[in-house]
Amino acid sequence: MADCLFCKIANKEIPSLTIYEDNWSLGFLDINPLSLGHVLVVPKEHAENILDLKENLIGKLFSAVKNITEALSDAFSPQGFTIGINHGRISGQAVDHLHIHIIPRYEGDNGGSLHSVVKNPPSEPAEEVQTKVKQAVEKLRNKR
Ligand code: 5GP
Ligand code: ZN
Repeated sequence: MADCLFCKIANKEIPSLTIYEDNWSLGFLDINPLSLGHVLVVPKEHAENILDLKENLIGKLFSAVKNITEALSDAFSPQGFTIGINHGRISGQAVDHLHIHIIPRYEGDNGGSLHSVVKNPPSEPAEEVQTKVKQAVEKLRNKR
């Protein structure tokens, strides 16, 4: 995509502090790190989000995430990680090219868990939720 920041980083038109590269994915340091070793992992081919990412690239991207997490473990020995995607404006996605945040977590870093991100429990009974989602899953299966 001509005007996409992370496409430009993936194509080396814009510099980044790259720490990982394979044929399909690139990992580079976030310009505003939330912790020591905060990395963004992107598919080289443009996709706005995970729904937009080609099926055959999903495993490749996740494999890069695993490799980088392993390297960060080795480099900085954090106590854990928060790994996630802001999908859509409402969730905080600022760059419209899929990127997975790998945020090393350290004792006393004042961060929370994913459970602290949203406080909006549903009023619908869980069984109703299950039925709706299962129906949607079946519909998709039948379409493919
Ligand atoms: P989002 O809010 O879309 O999930 O995260 C976008 C991330 O990209 C932010 O954490 C931000 O610091 C990072 N970022 C934005 N522009 C650049 C850039 O030009 N280079 C790098 N390395 N990171 C960037
Ligand atoms: Zn892009």
